Amino acid sequence: MLDAIPTEPRRLESYVAGRWQAGTGEGQVVTDAATGDPVARVDATGIDMGEMLRHGREVGGSRLREMTTHQRAMMMKRIGLALMERKEELYAISTATGATRSDGWIDIEGGIGTMLSYASKGRRELPNAHVIPDGPPEILSKDGSFIGQHILMPLEGVAIHINAFNFPVWGMLEKLAPTWLAGMPAIVKPASQTSYLTEACVRLMLETGELPEGALQLICGRTGDLLDRVTCQDVVTFTGSAATARKLRNTPAIIENAVRFTAEADSLNACILGSDATPDSPEFELFVKEVHREMTAKAGQKCTAIRRAILPRALVEPAVEALRARIEKTVIGHPADKETRMGALASTDQVEEVRRAVEAIGAEARVAIAPGSVPEKGAFVAPCVLVCDDPLTAKAPHEIEAFGPVCTLMPYDSLDEAIEIANRGAGSLVASVFTDDTEVAKTLGRGIAKLHGRVLFGNRLSAKTSTGHGSPLPQMVHGGPGRAGGGEELGGMRAVKHFMQRTALQGTPDQLTAVIGQWMPGAARRETEVHPFRRSLAELEIGDTIVTPARKVTLEDIEHFANFTGDTFYAHMDEDAAARNPFFEGRVAHGYLIVSFAAGLFVQPDEGPVLANYGVDSLRFMTPVNAGDSLRVQLTAKQINPRETDDYGEVRWDCTVLRDDAEVVAQYDVLTLVAKQQRDL
Ligand code: NDP
Repeated sequence: MLDAIPTEPRRLESYVAGRWQAGTGEGQVVTDAATGDPVARVDATGIDMGEMLRHGREVGGSRLREMTTHQRAMMMKRIGLALMERKEELYAISTATGATRSDGWIDIEGGIGTMLSYASKGRRELPNAHVIPDGPPEILSKDGSFIGQHILMPLEGVAIHINAFNFPVWGMLEKLAPTWLAGMPAIVKPASQTSYLTEACVRLMLETGELPEGALQLICGRTGDLLDRVTCQDVVTFTGSAATARKLRNTPAIIENAVRFTAEADSLNACILGSDATPDSPEFELFVKEVHREMTAKAGQKCTAIRRAILPRALVEPAVEALRARIEKTVIGHPADKETRMGALASTDQVEEVRRAVEAIGAEARVAIAPGSVPEKGAFVAPCVLVCDDPLTAKAPHEIEAFGPVCTLMPYDSLDEAIEIANRGAGSLVASVFTDDTEVAKTLGRGIAKLHGRVLFGNRLSAKTSTGHGSPLPQMVHGGPGRAGGGEELGGMRAVKHFMQRTALQGTPDQLTAVIGQWMPGAARRETEVHPFRRSLAELEIGDTIVTPARKVTLEDIEHFANFTGDTFYAHMDEDAAARNPFFEGRVAHGYLIVSFAAGLFVQPDEGPVLANYGVDSLRFMTPVNAGDSLRVQLTAKQINPRETDDYGEVRWDCTVLRDDAEVVAQYDVLTLVAKQQRDL
């Protein structure tokens, strides 16, 4: 019989300086996780890493930095929506990675959702600007002529994202989102094993035409001398094994140039069942369900998966039986089959690694649920549950990560012991705690927080609403100390700042106002002939000010306000009682009366460009106001924030209320919505 003629798998391409380029070497053939058939040849031989870095820094970076934060956020929104429309193309490819539909959902829609979430958070939480003030101004001199302000500006290098094989889409998008929002270009290097899915996703993103040239480049294959060329303006983020993290962290150029390097490595995550649980309690069931889910989702190939399940000693056997019942019902098979609940590992190499890891853990633990049978072809492994009866003396179960459907149960006899066992992970991405007792939650939460990047509490109340142990959320930090890599990803705006330089500016208020593009306390206030409320966003300038006439506060005003609003607190109504209060000499005006009078003084009432008042920020009452005092307001345009998608924007006004033109009695920001152009009325 003739041998079948081997077909050459598709050669993946890298996206280099605006063109698709195939490697010229042999590289590596990666196979379908479920069938073992070749899927692609992955190779980056001959790609000029220096050219990629130059292109990113010179072209991509400058184009992204020309855009404002909100323009970049809108770009990300459009890319996210376009990907969502074509998600089925990604699902079709995802099967080859061993992922079931629900595994693919975590990767594909989870990744797109993260991109969209950053797009919307960016517009809500960052000013639409090029320079981002970070925190409040610091007054550094008595007379206010010398002040300080921290600012954030994008680094002018390239963010190099080296990603793991288990989430080829999410792993890329969760890092790209904060990187682009910050204004940095990226070079993505996916793990070879599943890089064909990342490559497909990159092609879809480029086809949207939304990305500025150079904002995204891709390496399918090895990185060559890329990391030897990094400078202090570049950032390297790594996700993968602790061993590779250690190796890359020690690259001479990374050390010598103090390059930001974050690692998110595998960790021995724990799930703890509280001492209040019984075999009949909802928390016991939630615990078992979560352990089973984390073993079988992505076939246990999740950096956040539960590797160690810590529980009261008396509950070990009931937990084993409950897990056995669930595992027996878990259909393992081809990820595209509808009945399949657990797919394959990413490759047969991973199967071997998991087998070796189980053997090593097994030297200090007994197998309680042995792996059942699996399809012969493909990288399948059945769930395996071990029990380590003496977890405080054992080592391997706290150190060796079986990156598959494997979990070790660890009994405890006291909450202190449970804490000690959890912390033996020496730094983890996440731990979950199932308890219906807030005291147990308090003891365990305070005991384990220092060694965990995230702690999730679960009980009967949040059973339906909880996002679960294994899901990193865009709003919350993902990353953990020590063994978990010491890095931090996601966490809302925290992750964006990682790609920006924080600089402390010190100087006069006018100097800092010029640099930041936002009015700083003490800077020049420009009184304009036209009331600033008559100016459209296009006409208004930072520093435009109205200084109002003065208004005297009378006792009748205070009593009228008290009776009108019902706020008859003694400090406003009773002279003697007010005087007994350590802060007042007698009856004082209500703080809200002062704020109301201030509005009455600064508002220009006619219909015009100001559309609405949507709140105040940082309101402080600084000096009491008594009957007879006279109030005046200085209102200054502090920050102007045009909205990209609307014909109006936000204006933040500095509002200072003065008593007798001398003392500041109230200080706050007034927030308004203002039309971009004068309206036709
Ligand atoms: P690796 O640490 O080997 O690889 C992770 C990434 O680093 C891949 O993109 C890989 O590329 C790249 N890489 C490896 N060596 C270098 C190098 N010298 N220079 C530049 N890039 C490099 O992890 P694996 O994917 O092989 O998985 C091994 C183990 O890591 C798993 O069994 C599991 O324990 C753990 N892991 C943890 C994950 C997590 O999320 N924390 C995710 C995945 C795995 P390439 O693929 O081309 O080698």
